[in-house]
Amino acid sequence: MHNIKLKGSDKAYIVGKIVCLGRNYLEHIRELNNEVPDQPVIFCKPGSSILKNHGQVVIPAYSNDCHHELELAVLIGKNGKHIPETEAMSYVCGYGVALDLTLRDVQARQKEKGLPWEIAKGFDTSCPLSDFVPAAQVGNPDNLEICLKVNGVIRQQGNSNMMMRSVAQIISEISTFFTLEEGDIILTGTPSGVGPIQSGDILDGEIEQVGSLRVSVA
Ligand code: MG
Repeated sequence: MHNIKLKGSDKAYIVGKIVCLGRNYLEHIRELNNEVPDQPVIFCKPGSSILKNHGQVVIPAYSNDCHHELELAVLIGKNGKHIPETEAMSYVCGYGVALDLTLRDVQARQKEKGLPWEIAKGFDTSCPLSDFVPAAQVGNPDNLEICLKVNGVIRQQGNSNMMMRSVAQIISEISTFFTLEEGDIILTGTPSGVGPIQSGDILDGEIEQVGSLRVSVA
């Protein structure tokens, strides 16, 4: 089990489920030749996939193509089901920087067969997380610059204002399927520029007002 503490607070949140949104940035949908979904694309990562800031990513032996996806992470502060969009932001207690590491070759095979993505998305260390900051410290989560560098070179650069669904919409929609509980984390999708990582790479993710995340690849 993993705990998350908000900067400047002693309260620890025990991480529950990690709910991820796929295909939330148009340019990223286009770069992978995916269809624009009319329903949100939702999947989960297990808690065991979390990697702490400054940790080391281990790419499983069953893949030859692990991709980075830098994403804004939302920490849920209270329980709710069927949360109206207008109240959704009151359920957010913090924000962090996350990577949704994806075994693209494995995911492609699973997609082809119509099978679930978990083995491509939920392996150990597939969810690096930064420290989290209190929600009050972030002005507008739907307008934050997002940048990922690999070995100092910019690979992904975008803004959360390019998300097709806002943070409030995402929370509201997810809560129609799953009760959101204190300590749950939502990954809000990735901007374009995803690409492979390899042994020895250093990944530096940064989100305006939220913070930074650094991991290396074993
Ligand atoms: Mg993703």
